[in-house]
Amino acid sequence: MTVRVPAKVNLQLAVGPLRDDGYHDLVNVFHAVSLFDEVTAEPAGAPAVTVEAAPDAQVAIEGVPVDGDNLAVRAARLVADRLGVEPDVALRIRKAIPVAGGMAGGSADAAAALVACARLWDDPEAPRLSLDDLMKLGGELGSDVPFALLGGTAVGVGRGEQLSPVEARGTFHWVFATADGGLSTPAVYGECDRIRAERGEQVPWPQASPGLMAALAAGDAAALGAHLDNDLQAAAVRLRPSLSRTLDAGRGLGAVGALVSGSGPTCAFLAADAGHAADLAASLGGAGVAKQVVRAHGPVPGAIVV
Ligand code: ATP
Repeated sequence: MTVRVPAKVNLQLAVGPLRDDGYHDLVNVFHAVSLFDEVTAEPAGAPAVTVEAAPDAQVAIEGVPVDGDNLAVRAARLVADRLGVEPDVALRIRKAIPVAGGMAGGSADAAAALVACARLWDDPEAPRLSLDDLMKLGGELGSDVPFALLGGTAVGVGRGEQLSPVEARGTFHWVFATADGGLSTPAVYGECDRIRAERGEQVPWPQASPGLMAALAAGDAAALGAHLDNDLQAAAVRLRPSLSRTLDAGRGLGAVGALVSGSGPTCAFLAADAGHAADLAASLGGAGVAKQVVRAHGPVPGAIVV
């Protein structure tokens, strides 16, 4: 059972005040893009997991755990638990999504494992786990997991896990600049809190941007580019100053929008159309400001069996 699952870029990430439970209230506009991990699940005598980089994807897989800490393994255990079976499955993860890159690769693998293991163990005649059930299980694993099941474009509130699909017209063309080494998501949120404390800022309640929603509904790349916004960007750039050079290079080469993806360090550039994305990718590749330059389009569906 092989499941293909997309990466995400956050079109808007509005980070609200720090809550008592240590999380922030968010408005998180997720957008699934055509950069895919694949998770294969096979019946086995005991739980096992292997991780490899997809051919052509220069993904540094050293940071990915190959034990029970792997999010895909935790997902398999949750499904086994719910269905009352042994979690005896061999998972093979083929990664094209950068690790700790702000594109939710681990969450994507967890979503893929939820779908693959449910297919493997659930009763096909009378399934006990619906997509809704899998989304709830996903929410227990991480805030970004439910969106990797859903795909498309969606707005998440709460920790980002309470999702509503967003109307988006047409296809948007992206260029992603990956970086050497990841950024830890908790460290980036911590830095964001520190910057706000230094500035003595009153943190407003997060709101979805009406301009962004209108641009999505109209399929207007230039308007979308103008409304891309990530409250974590300043923190990611402070932790990794070289990102400002990468963002400036993309803007200088004519991207209609540029931002750090999620908690970074991957940078996302929106192009006007497919031809512009090809040109932008070639120029950005030549500028020497990224580990790898990858093109993708969105929105694409969430985790699907292939
Ligand atoms: P997000 O955008 O959701 O903040 P990210 O893209 O920055 O996430 P991930 O690639 O999801 O980061 O990985 C974060 C950490 O999670 C990794 O450094 C690794 O230790 C751990 N991890 C656990 N399972 C996986 C997995 N299947 N793939 C990648 N990382 C995993």
